[in-house]
Amino acid sequence: MKIFLSTVLISLMSFASFSQAYTVYDLYTKKNPPIYAENENIPTWGYDNRLGDGATLSYSFAESNYACDSSSGCFSLSDFMPTGYQDTIALAFDAWASVSNLSFSVAADQSGDIVLGGEAIDGLSGELGHARIVTPYRSGNGLEALSYISSGAVHFDPDEPWSLSGSSTPLFDVALHEIGHTLGLDHSEDKNAVMFSIYEGTNALQADDIAGIQYLYGASVSPVPEPSTYLMLLLGLAMVAGYGRRAVASQK
Ligand SMILES: [Zn+2]
Repeated sequence: MKIFLSTVLISLMSFASFSQAYTVYDLYTKKNPPIYAENENIPTWGYDNRLGDGATLSYSFAESNYACDSSSGCFSLSDFMPTGYQDTIALAFDAWASVSNLSFSVAADQSGDIVLGGEAIDGLSGELGHARIVTPYRSGNGLEALSYISSGAVHFDPDEPWSLSGSSTPLFDVALHEIGHTLGLDHSEDKNAVMFSIYEGTNALQADDIAGIQYLYGASVSPVPEPSTYLMLLLGLAMVAGYGRRAVASQK
């Protein structure tokens, strides 16, 4: 049985003009692909954020009976998730942060940039969860004022057999996908990608997911230096030391 991951505001669209499989979401025109000149403002997270700029975001958990779109019920994850779900959600955020210039912190319940909760969607199977992508709104007239972004939301269907490990519905895998939406990624055409619309057991970010998130927020700013980097650093220090010696010598 195919199990679908869906989003509230996103539909599958082709991305024929680019070679990569990932798609990013034009948060203003709601069209793919987004049309932005390089370094032009793009409404990703953050005030006046630019394409490729990083962001520091917070997330929190919804309270029981919070207001959601479903008439069937809105829940706190504590109402139906296995004990320890908070750590699993944190790992999913960490996965995105580890490959991009994004960082996340936990905010008080029902606050922050991204709120995660439960929503009765369609009973067992079918949709496992969905996400509301970040949505911009105008703080004045004109595109120039389009700076702030309202909260993102991730909803998990309480009727699924959620698990933190094991063979039933893995919370981590689904959270990884839905969080990707709240960060601005649409569905990918790459069947191996976490952002592919159908869950087929992918449980780690793939090259296409990483390319997508780095297009929006840039690469991680603190990568582990490679040996060649150390060599360049040593050469640089040697040159500085050499200049220093000459400078001292010239004072004599
Ligand atoms: Zn999706």
